[in-house]
Amino acid sequence: MTQAADTHARYPTLTSGQYAFFFDVDGTLAAIQSRPEAVFIPEQVIAQLQQLSALSGGALALVSGRPIEQLDALAAPWHGPAAGVHGAERRDAEGNLQRISLPTEVEQPLRAELQEAMASWPGTQLEIKGMAFALHYRQAMQHEQDVMRLAEQSVKRFPGLALQPGKCVVEIKPAGIDKGAAIGDFMQQSPFAGRTPVFIGDDLTDEKGFLAVNERQGVSIKVGEGSSQADYRLSDVDAVYGWLERTLLLLEQDNVGKEFRL
Ligand SMILES: [Mg+2]
Repeated sequence: MTQAADTHARYPTLTSGQYAFFFDVDGTLAAIQSRPEAVFIPEQVIAQLQQLSALSGGALALVSGRPIEQLDALAAPWHGPAAGVHGAERRDAEGNLQRISLPTEVEQPLRAELQEAMASWPGTQLEIKGMAFALHYRQAMQHEQDVMRLAEQSVKRFPGLALQPGKCVVEIKPAGIDKGAAIGDFMQQSPFAGRTPVFIGDDLTDEKGFLAVNERQGVSIKVGEGSSQADYRLSDVDAVYGWLERTLLLLEQDNVGKEFRL
């Protein structure tokens, strides 16, 4: 880890306590790839997430812009609480799935318009998520302005929609849906309730999550550079892996200590 990336940040060391863990996926648990379908979480990291979940009474959730179906494929064999599409889909610890969808009279014409416009800009990619659309332009930076303008116009024309800009992507999703609300919903339910929330993310979409965690006196951790509401910082995905390993050791020791005292 270079010092330069962490000049105004602190390395998060958890003290002994009861935590609820929330992880963003892309750019946090998995390195960004030029194609979203090439992204993977290393096997060892998945095993560590499972251990961390077991040490936390199952209070560990993935919170991502991807649909839950993709999260399950990325994190298999782990299959636990998750918020997909920024919280438009949420699966709780009991396995109950809730989904917020766009009305058909909005979804269908919007989809047709987006498909037509995006097809005219080579290299851009329209991802249809059911209750949201992601307009990718990583391979076509020359169309960034076109894509942003299209997204802004769509949100103005159809009520109940909101924009969610990210890295080389802008998403159109139902208004009121964000990672902060998703974390807030988890924190009202077992096994999350009563624990101290910890959230790690790398992108603009994670800022609402950081605020939700800060409001609950939790631990908010930003991955990478750029201004953020998060209290702590890790420089990159590898630093997240290192932190995960150290946190596991610490919580394991804490557990052994508790058993010893019994
Ligand atoms: Mg991310």
